[in-house]
Parts: sequence; structure tokens; C-alpha cells
Amino acid sequence: MSILRFHAIKESLKNKPVLVEEKERRSDLFGKNVFNENTMRHYLTKDAFVGVMNAIQYGKKIDRNVADQVASSMKDWALGKGVTHYTHWFQPLTGATAEKHDAFFETVSGGMAIEKFGGSQLVQQEPDASSFPSGGIRNTFEARGYTAWDPTSPAFIYGTTLCIPTIFVAYTGEALDYKTPLLRALHAVDDAATAVCKYFDKNVKKVTSSLGWEQEYFLIDKLMAASRPDIALTGRTLLGHSAAKGQQLDDHYFGSIPNRALNFMRELETECMLLGIPVKTRHNEVAPNQFEVAPIFEEANLAVDHNALLMDIMGRVASRHNFKVLLHEKPFAGVNGSGKHNNWSLSTDTGINLLAPGKTPMSNLQFLTFFINTIKAVHTHEALLRAAIASASNDHRLGANEAPPAIISVFIGEQLTKVLEELEGVTKGKLSPKEKTELKLNVVGKIPDVLLDNTDRNRTSPFAFTGNKFEFRAVGSTANCGNPMTVLNTIVAKQLKDFKKEVDILVNKKDLKKDEAVFNVLREYIKSSRDILFEGNGYGEAWEKEAKKRGLSNNKTTPEALKARISKETIALFEEMQVMSKIETEARYEIEVEAYIKHIQIESRVLGDIARNHIVPTAVRYQNILVENVKGLKEIFEEKYNSVSKEQINLIEAISKHIEGINANVTKMLEARKKANAIDDVEKKAYAYCNSVKPFFDDIRYHSDKLELLVDDEIWPLTKYREMLFTR
Ligand code: ADP
Ligand code: MG
Repeated sequence: MSILRFHAIKESLKNKPVLVEEKERRSDLFGKNVFNENTMRHYLTKDAFVGVMNAIQYGKKIDRNVADQVASSMKDWALGKGVTHYTHWFQPLTGATAEKHDAFFETVSGGMAIEKFGGSQLVQQEPDASSFPSGGIRNTFEARGYTAWDPTSPAFIYGTTLCIPTIFVAYTGEALDYKTPLLRALHAVDDAATAVCKYFDKNVKKVTSSLGWEQEYFLIDKLMAASRPDIALTGRTLLGHSAAKGQQLDDHYFGSIPNRALNFMRELETECMLLGIPVKTRHNEVAPNQFEVAPIFEEANLAVDHNALLMDIMGRVASRHNFKVLLHEKPFAGVNGSGKHNNWSLSTDTGINLLAPGKTPMSNLQFLTFFINTIKAVHTHEALLRAAIASASNDHRLGANEAPPAIISVFIGEQLTKVLEELEGVTKGKLSPKEKTELKLNVVGKIPDVLLDNTDRNRTSPFAFTGNKFEFRAVGSTANCGNPMTVLNTIVAKQLKDFKKEVDILVNKKDLKKDEAVFNVLREYIKSSRDILFEGNGYGEAWEKEAKKRGLSNNKTTPEALKARISKETIALFEEMQVMSKIETEARYEIEVEAYIKHIQIESRVLGDIARNHIVPTAVRYQNILVENVKGLKEIFEEKYNSVSKEQINLIEAISKHIEGINANVTKMLEARKKANAIDDVEKKAYAYCNSVKPFFDDIRYHSDKLELLVDDEIWPLTKYREMLFTR
């Protein structure tokens, strides 16, 4: 084992796995560092409190006077907790979160200073926006963008900084972040869903979209991770032979959590509690050193913020435990990758989960309405939904026979399949009283309210109904959930809007009763969206063939998938629902395509460097040792030489072959990259990177991984899979 690797393992083992005690109760810690409703009630005047609550609940504007009061109270609260700085916290399209800290401190005349924070600082800031991706919306001459307070997500303290969640927009009004379109989409789905709810209950005033994410990740010893340039620069291993043992024994999933990881989790959870992130579940995942953390679901905007915040905190806490957290979708070849299931539902301000069956036929009809409309929305916009989760790193899951496939389909389970089949047989137009009763009693009335326990879990489905919510499983572990949540809520909003129109026409023009009209429209939807429903094995080749017949898209790579982002239909959809203008939609497409190019470009550079600077020289060194050995054998054994040195000669030849394989492929990859770089059109460039540069990754890896098995372990420069995945 090389000195470097030996040292890394030695250090790793020093991290004594003794469990750290938890001193405080979680419920006592929860939300302590959040300027939440409870804190506001305490700190704000009644007027200010009402003003903010109206903004949160009904989107009312906050006037200047109220903003001033809120700012002043926030400042008092924060100063009382030792805070020195404040920041507008936002989620630019880089995928990371952004913050620029300003001190509360201000000088005043007479050489004195005070702590100051007013409404204007709370409401709006102008960070220099020129270095954030804008997709050409903002050329650098007018590099102005601004951040604006989002009162629906409460301010929080992290470290000694007061963080104020904000949207980030160009001076001309276009969104430059994930949050702005998400808020618009949530607004759209609220409007559309509330209108539909009124068919069933006039008292519904608001519908909220909920999100419960499940974050998967790997924990690797920090020193070992640092010893690997590929992990340091790309977040994943570009090379490395599988360990002799992988996940085939299934001995990690739900197994006891190793103490060292548990200590990390406890500290992470403590931080989450303080920040009001309601994390509840933790467990080992399938691959060695892979884990999951999941909260209790929340209103979608808050849940998205909390996930972005969590990903940031994870890195910091991991570092304190001498770990590096890998959020990448596929950090290690040959073992499971990581995803981020997005559990999604809609619920009313009257406390009803619209995707949970109810106790009466009427509430079940409401459930079926939302259930079927969601299925229909996914069917109509399956390609866009696929595009919403496309990234270079997620391609390792979606395009590569790993959970879940690149084809979007919906799994609903046996019982609901039967219900839909029966509904499909409903008579067109007016229903006889007998049929109505029949429907209410035997179809709609018979949906068990314990579906939750009865929906069998099809783990291969990218979009599965799990009893009282849909689970969008194809989201990548590194993704900002804002993107898929914007798309999902927008397509459902559009679908519900169309549904309402169709039902109203039947009621007003065809003189149908409301429930008759609903049955009629739903029946047509079941027919027209049947092709998206799939209960079988999503990984199989048979499904690929079948999906093709059904006309479902199967875009395995990001450049292909992203096209749906700027189709005529998508542009029209976002415009109609007032979620994104054409300019915003096109800008986002460009940003995502460029991100893809950069991603592959960086990986290609890193791979070329490691292969040439680490792997080839090591292999040559070992080969020279073997050559000396053979020379010695020749001297000693003379004419008997041929029979004793055969294996060594073979080994020397094999090593030569793989060195040659690496060199030739790296050279070809460099040439392909040069050609790709010369292309101006970003879309064509992305295809060039995808189809001409990336294929060399596998070839180079193949030869390097073979060398890893041949070359003396003592001099192998890269920390091996077994060391990263199995050192405890
Ligand atoms: P699993 O899918 O792992 O078996 P659960 O079914 O308990 O686990 O839930 C997984 C996630 O779904 C949790 O994060 C939970 O908060 C979330 N969830 C449950 N109900 C809803 C809902 N109505 N809306 C959104 N997310 C939900
Ligand atoms: Mg799940």
C-alpha cells in the first residue's frame, strides 16, 4: 500500500467511534434559530404580525412601515443571539446557495458606531450579479440584479449570520434563481386547485403544495477523499476497480449505523433542529457507506429551501467529523447511486390531503379528480418532467439501467388500476339514477382509506403513487428540488385549469349535473392517459420497447432530454401559467446546456490528468521492475530461461497494452475536446461533449482499472474502492 494511502487509513481509524451524547431534547431545540411565527408573535407589534401573516398566507403586499418594524425586531432578536452580520440568502442557477454578508455595524458622526438594519435592507439588496448564470438575460454591462425578501420562508440564524431567504431577479424582472418560478408555480397550482375544490367544498380558500424529500448521500473519510483528485474536483470517482465485496450481500441496507456516521448524523440533526428543518428519518442505504436523511414534509417552498440549506450544512458538519459528504448521483461505479425522492401532494386550508382517499363517496370523487388529473398532467408533459431532472450527474442513474429509468411512467398499484378500469366504463353524457348510485356505492365508495398500507411498492417506477402522495423518484441527489417542483406544480395547475373548463362546459352547455360532468371528463382522461401507467419492471428491455410503442420518450442523455425545455408546448405552458416568460424559459435552457458542457469538460480534463500523471507513470515504474526481474532471470537460468519467465513476460505485455490503451484514448479524447470547444452553438457543443468526448471515459477507465489489478499495491497512487467504502 502506498505511503499516502496507508497514512489516510491510519488517520481514518483514529476517529474513535464513540457515540457523542445528546444533551438537549430535540423538541426543545426545534426552531430555536428561526424567526418563525412563534418568535414573530413575541417580537412584532400586532400590526406588523398581521401584515406578515397576511403576506405569508394570502400573498398580500407588505408595506414599508411593516417592513421597518419587522427589520427592527429581527435585528433585536438576532443581536440577542450573538449575530453580527446579515445576508440575503438565495439560490442562483449554479445549484449552490449564495450569500454575501454585511455587518449590522454602521458608523455615525462623532467616531461612534451603531447596529443598524432597516426595512430597506430587509426588503431588497443588490448583490453584484454579473458572475451568476443568467443565460444571456443580463449582459455584463448592466450587471444588475436584485434580491427581494420572501416572507413565506422564515429568516434564520446560521453561525453568527442572520439569513433572509430571498428571490433573485434581473433588474428587468426576469428570474435568475430557482425560487422565483417556484413561487409562481405554487401560486398557479393554488389558483387552479382551489377552483376545482369548490366543486366539492365551497369553503376551500387555498391549496398548498407539499414536499417531503428523501436525501441520499455517501460519507467518505475526508483524507481519503482528498487523496483522490477526481473526488476533490468532480465529486465522484472517475477511475477505480470495484472492491472484491460490493453490495451483493445486502448487508448495509437498514443495518446498524456505524458510530462514526451516527455521530455525524446526530450533529447534523441538531443543526437541522435549530434551523427548523424537521428531519425525522435516518438509515443506511443499499451501498456501503451510503445513507439517507428525510424530514417530515412541509409546504413546498419551505421544503425546497430546507433541502438547499441541508445540503450546505451537510458539507460543513461532515468536515468537522473528518468526513467528506458525497451528494453526487454516482460517486462509485458498481454500487448504487443516490437520488432524492420528492414526495408530493396537495392539501387544502380546510385540512384535506387531496391525494388521500376520504371517507365518503364525495370526498373520494375529489380524491379521484386530483389523482387522475395528476396522471393526465404527467402523461401530457412526460418529456418536460424528464427534462426537469436532467443533469450530467443524474444521467448516470436515468440513462444507465439504474433506478429509475429515463422513461417517465406512473405506478398506481392494483387497487386503483381496478377503480380506473371501472370508471372508464361510465356511460357518456347523462347518467341514470341507478348508475349514479352504483358508481357512488361500488366504485367511488369502495376506495379503502388504508390505501397507504395496500399500495405495493414498485421500486423501479420513477413516479409512483404511495397511498396519499405521489413520489417523484427520478430527482437526482444533487438537484435543487425547486426545478422539478416548479415543473410538477405547473403541469398539474395547467391540467386542473383545463379540467375545470371542460367540466364547466358540460354543466353549462350540456346541462349535466356537476358530478356527472366530473365523471364524464375523468372517464375521457383515463382513456387518453392510459399509456403513462405502468406497473411492471421499469429496468427491463421489454419496457423500453413497450414504451416506444406507446410514444413515451426515452431520453437517456441530458442534451436530448433538455430539448423538451424549450419546445413550443413548454414555452406556451409556462407563459400561460405565468410561471416563466419565453425569455426566462430560453435562458434556463441555455444555462442548463452550458452547465452540462462544463461538467463533462471538467471531468474529461481531470480524467486525462490522472490517467497520464498518476496511472501511466505508476504502471511504467512497475513494468520496469518486472523488466529488471526478467533480465535477472535470463542471466541466472540462461537456456532454461523461456520456461521460467513466461508469466512475467505476459504481465509486461499486458501492462504495455493497457498503458497504450490509456495513452491512445487520452490523446483521442483531447482531440475530440478540441473539436467540441471550437463549436459555437451550445446545443451542438453539448452533443459533441456527450457523444464524442464522454465515450472515452469508459475506455480509459477500463484500462486503468485493469492496471489497478496488475500493478503492485504498494505503489498504486489512488485510494482504492475497498479502502474508501469499507474502512470503518
Ligand atoms: P417511504 O417512502 O420511505 O416508505 P414514507 O411513506 O413514510 O416513507 O414517507 C416518505 C416521505 O414522504 C417523508 O419525507 C414524508 O414526510 C413524505 N410525505 C408523507 N406525506 C406527504 C404528503 N402528504 N406530501 C408530501 N410528502 C409527504
Ligand atoms: Mg421513498
